[in-house]
Amino acid sequence: MKKMIGILLILCLLCGSLPMASAAGGIVIDGTWSVLLPEAPTAYEAYAAETLRRGLTEALGVEIPAVSAAENRYIAVGSASRADVSEVADNGYRITALDGNIHIAGTAQRGLQAGAYRFLEEYCNRKIYTQDIIVCPKNDRITVPADADVIYEPFFEYTDTDWNSPRDPAYSMANGLNGGQYRTLGPEMGDTVNYIGGFCHTMGWLCETWKYAETHPEYLALHDGVRTTDQPCLTNPEVLRICTENVLNLLAEKHDPSAPLQIVSVTQNDNYSCCECDACAAFEAQHGGKHSATVLNFVNQVADAVKAAGYDNVAIDTFAYTYSQAAPENIVPRDNVIVRLCSIFCCFSHPFDAKCNKEFMRDLADWSKICNRLYVWDYATNYSHTVAVFPNFNVIQKNMQILYEHNVRGVYVEGNYYVDKCDTEFSELRAYMISKCLQDPYCDLDKEVDGFLQAYYGPGGKLVGKILDIYCAHAGSFDGTLWIYYGSWACMRPMPAVTVKLVDSLWCLAKKDAEGKCLANLERSELSWRWWKASAAMGEFSYLSPCRGDEKEKLFEDLKNAGVTMLHEGRIEDYATFDRDLIRYAMPDEWSIDDRNADHVQKRIQIEKLIEKIPLFAPIGYIFNLIHS
Ligand SMILES: [Zn+2]
Ligand SMILES: [Zn+2]
Repeated sequence: MKKMIGILLILCLLCGSLPMASAAGGIVIDGTWSVLLPEAPTAYEAYAAETLRRGLTEALGVEIPAVSAAENRYIAVGSASRADVSEVADNGYRITALDGNIHIAGTAQRGLQAGAYRFLEEYCNRKIYTQDIIVCPKNDRITVPADADVIYEPFFEYTDTDWNSPRDPAYSMANGLNGGQYRTLGPEMGDTVNYIGGFCHTMGWLCETWKYAETHPEYLALHDGVRTTDQPCLTNPEVLRICTENVLNLLAEKHDPSAPLQIVSVTQNDNYSCCECDACAAFEAQHGGKHSATVLNFVNQVADAVKAAGYDNVAIDTFAYTYSQAAPENIVPRDNVIVRLCSIFCCFSHPFDAKCNKEFMRDLADWSKICNRLYVWDYATNYSHTVAVFPNFNVIQKNMQILYEHNVRGVYVEGNYYVDKCDTEFSELRAYMISKCLQDPYCDLDKEVDGFLQAYYGPGGKLVGKILDIYCAHAGSFDGTLWIYYGSWACMRPMPAVTVKLVDSLWCLAKKDAEGKCLANLERSELSWRWWKASAAMGEFSYLSPCRGDEKEKLFEDLKNAGVTMLHEGRIEDYATFDRDLIRYAMPDEWSIDDRNADHVQKRIQIEKLIEKIPLFAPIGYIFNLIHS
């Protein structure tokens, strides 16, 4: 018996010096583990190790040390690890279990950071849902399968979106955002892919169009028979010389030879005034009659000059946007040219491969055949009425898969970049969905969304999920299409009163036991529903509702209290100019200074005043609304 106890003791002592293995054969990480760094770590390795160390400390509830030597029970990082990444693509990583320890290594300048975050997400369930909401379940043990071997390679070389949380470095690193437009990641964090000199619509200043109206009108676009500073003439050799000089000057000032990729945007201004002069028209006629031909020919020549000057890590970026969206014939982009195809005319209640988006799909397919560095500029907000519901949730993942499958290498999703002035909808949810799909278009998005809803809205989050399902089922106007410049009402088809009641009760239930930040998040997101109802004259805003005017005033006050200062893109509202009649009797979409003085709005205000005075007219208003909605 004593001998037995002695053997057991020896076994226990032996086990004490080796990593613990669970009955299922997994590696069990507990508070005795450490993060193993090389003896002289780079700042980048030290940052990844610290990310891991802090995350593990949070998950295990015990301070985990970082060490430069360990026999066992370690997670090795970077050059201290034995993970073989020789076959892993740039900015990818490998998390692998070897000899009962964990090894994490990455490639290029961002892989290791991403690997550290992935380990915490995969095995500690630590999720960065927003910049303030980091969920990390506490556990005294973390189990990693004994044969764990996770390899990740980025789906896109460039990923960016705006909103609030995506500006946060930790959020961006954990959720796969690497563009430099909306976040600053230092070299120790892996750096960003940077546009230098301007992100978009740069041709005006690169070609100095404003200078030449008097002296050289031939440098300017001839549009509708008039030379205009709106755009340059892209077949004029002097314009090419001016633009090339400015691009080279910009590079002389801002070029970073150590960056893997820097991008200079040479993109058309944001208007439709493309040049129609004889030379431009003749060139385009030889290339399928497409305006993109002159744009691409011009940008190709700038790119040649940049390459000849020795800037091998620089790409010149241009747009396939509005009049230049369709790909040209008989001309292809140079290797160092990025074409950013814009989905501005797309319907967002259906994926890109639906019938309503066939022109975009044609252009995507055409560009992907000729462009080896195709990027996409996508959209995810209603810019006309940003406060209202924009029910595009069902297409986010499918669209990202379609882009990936068409060899798109970079994606920027323009969302609500002014969200700090009108955060009333589902900004954080949408930002998270977009980020996760940029990181991996084939991720389990339903699971990600469920986790987000629970963390952001609390127990009521499940009901918010049901509300979103109803929104998406009704997404789009009469014909089912959803555009980024629709009126609020048109973003969700006519909804039967019974469905409106159901959504109302779901919001009510979701808020029932909510408190603190979760309640505030629910109330803020519900504002978009109230705005939609007010725009559609439904629910408490129906003509049959005696408190219709009061509810509109209440909505207005709640928007102000929520810090909303922008109702549309491009303009801060001056609430001092909102009079009571406007708020009470006009539709919310008509509150803005651009719309409120229109005849039909003034007429509406008069009619609604009359209805309020003589309630017998209310059913007429109700029927009128039914017919017109
Ligand atoms: Zn021209
Ligand atoms: Zn559609």
